[in-house]
Amino acid sequence: MKKIAFIGLGNMGSPLCQRLLLKYNVDIFDINKSNLKTLETLGGRIVKDLQTIANNDFIFLCLPTSDIVESLILGDKGLAKHLKEGTSIIDMTTGEPKITRKIENILSEKGINFVDAPVSGGPKGALNGTIAIMAGCKKDHYEKIKPLLNVISENVFHTGDVGSGHSLKAGNNLLNLICRIATFEVVSLLVKDGIDPNTAVEVIQKSSGRNYATEITLPDNILSGKMFQGFTTGLMNKDATIALNNGELLKTDLPLGKLSKKILQETIKKFGLEADMSNVALTFEEKNNIRLRPNN
Ligand code: NAD
Repeated sequence: MKKIAFIGLGNMGSPLCQRLLLKYNVDIFDINKSNLKTLETLGGRIVKDLQTIANNDFIFLCLPTSDIVESLILGDKGLAKHLKEGTSIIDMTTGEPKITRKIENILSEKGINFVDAPVSGGPKGALNGTIAIMAGCKKDHYEKIKPLLNVISENVFHTGDVGSGHSLKAGNNLLNLICRIATFEVVSLLVKDGIDPNTAVEVIQKSSGRNYATEITLPDNILSGKMFQGFTTGLMNKDATIALNNGELLKTDLPLGKLSKKILQETIKKFGLEADMSNVALTFEEKNNIRLRPNN
């Protein structure tokens, strides 16, 4: 039987771990104990220290940032001190390719496998078993971990060597941000010209300007008045920054990405880093003196 652990059981880690609990016993660890209660009732075994976690063969991580991953693994009392040769660490954090490659370099010298496997599709996609998982590692190691990742989701992809999963995930989210800002901009113009926002979005969705914002973001979260997507401005800001930092490193010109991040700052300045991404629509409403949400 595979010995499995999961560290970081927040909004995203918890549903990912719930999928693993359908098939395996899982050791769970989080600095916030209250996040472990539900998983314990589902069969998770709460573990109090990293030394015990290190007894497992496959250790999943879903932490806020790569800096936290680095200190958890390589810090003074870090996981690396206790790991045995042959262990696989599967990092589902939305992380930074540069830090990921650095950690992998250090761990590979000890015979430990480090894989970046970030996800896209939100907590709901995780629970449904459809979330996209982007695994960056050598092909032979990918074949070894793929059956385990398939317990979490049917949509598992090998993206290339270590770091490529984190690169692709951040690139995807930067593209999502650019498309969202561009769509809000054009729909604001059309509303200003007297067109109903529902009509504008419905027609674009059937025309050549369609994208995720016309298919999902606007109809489901803004035009419906729900104003909740379950993804914060802070997380989007982090992901855009990772992609833009990668662009600097690789000397790639990303003018639209930079501008979109700058426009996102207007929403962050007003609503903070914990605000839902739906609030970006309010910034466009205010700037252009229009209404995208329903009137009541
Ligand atoms: P979260 O803040 O809800 O969860 C993070 C968890 O990590 C918390 O339970 C926290 O207590 C724990 N933690 C922090 N430092 C720790 C440490 N040193 N040791 C042990 N546990 C520690 O965040 P989240 O929304 O679950 O996001 C986690 C990762 O998943 C992020 O990298 C995020 O970008 C990514 N992600 C989130 C979503 C989403 O919709 N929430 C979607 C895709 C990807």
